[in-house]
Amino acid sequence: MNPHFHLKNTLYMAILIVLFAVAGCSRPDTSTKPPATAEPTTPPSSSTGPLSATSPDSQPNDDSGLPRSPDDHTEKVYRAKLAAVGDVLIHSSVYKDARTADGYDFRPMFEPVKRYIEEADIALANQESMIGGEELGLSDYPRFNGPYEVGDAVKDCGFDVVNLANNHTLDRGIQAVVNTIQHYSQLGLLYTGAYLSPQDRGQIRTLEKNGITFALLSYTYGTNGIPVPEGKTYMLNLIDLPAIRKDVVQARSLADVVVVSFHFGQEYADMPNDEQKTVARAAAEAGADIIIGHHPHVLQPAEWIQTADGRRTFVVYSLGNFIAAQEGNRERTGGIMQLTIEKTVKDGTTHLELKEPCLIPTWIHMVNWRQYKIEPLRTAEDSQLPHKSAYWDEIVNHMKQWMPELLIPAD
Ligand SMILES: [Zn+2]
Repeated sequence: MNPHFHLKNTLYMAILIVLFAVAGCSRPDTSTKPPATAEPTTPPSSSTGPLSATSPDSQPNDDSGLPRSPDDHTEKVYRAKLAAVGDVLIHSSVYKDARTADGYDFRPMFEPVKRYIEEADIALANQESMIGGEELGLSDYPRFNGPYEVGDAVKDCGFDVVNLANNHTLDRGIQAVVNTIQHYSQLGLLYTGAYLSPQDRGQIRTLEKNGITFALLSYTYGTNGIPVPEGKTYMLNLIDLPAIRKDVVQARSLADVVVVSFHFGQEYADMPNDEQKTVARAAAEAGADIIIGHHPHVLQPAEWIQTADGRRTFVVYSLGNFIAAQEGNRERTGGIMQLTIEKTVKDGTTHLELKEPCLIPTWIHMVNWRQYKIEPLRTAEDSQLPHKSAYWDEIVNHMKQWMPELLIPAD
């Protein structure tokens, strides 16, 4: 053992920690600028892993052809940023607003928040209403069907994964689900929660970013009373604790990070109910690292679940509506949840840490059920949201109530 080596390592880690702290919730206006204290030899603080946390002169010389020393305790740190949003729920006034001369274009609606999705390495959205296309006939509540161009906008905004396990998945039958899956597949997005076959259902989705592998699972509490087609239980993941435990254990064996989406809870309730708590706890204990909730159409708080085996699982119980046509301030408020995942590999062991939880509250702008756009809540005009300042404080306090360190940037 070389004590200098460890001292150097410790100092170097300390410098890195300071740099990460300075970078904070990497807001778009600062994320591209190097921290003021950066030195030429410092690895970038942006999430482009792997970062080597060894000092340059302790790095083994790979050009020498000599084997690495058995005392080599090189530590590798990998970082990736995850972003998640709530419901993409396309009511008729939203698709009518997106109508163009030859189709639909939803991309401008996502534009004001696109940068928060793009800056993440992996981004998830809840595709609440299926996009079965015009060929099936577009439709509104209670049985939704939207145009394919919704998916084009979701992709353009920077999302990588769509959750398809919702109470509206089966609204327009099997064909709408198949069309939705096919369109997202063509776009190169991963889909979870609804599947084409038992084989499709059996293949847990994983995505590798910056040296960190994510496994993605999702489940819904129900389907608005529409039965899952006979003999096709693979089509939709329903919340079923034994099945979830089994999936999570399998996902753990495939990935560094297990992300589980749950479509659950009471609509329009500000706080999670006992069932949400029970389901989240079960997933966390089984091995889930990150739990993303949606369905209530309003925001519900985030918290850490301390598991029996000493891990810390991040959960946000509801991210509200991302885009939808619903009245009421709370229904027009959603959130982009951002989280940094840090994986450290040293001496053959891997350590995972979830850091810098950050929420960008969003607002669904609309005027008389037209001119839809998703914007940061803090930029909502007074005509859209009177008493914005008091409302902002309410949202901040609500979301931080169980997680005081949750960052909610005001600028
Ligand atoms: Zn729902």
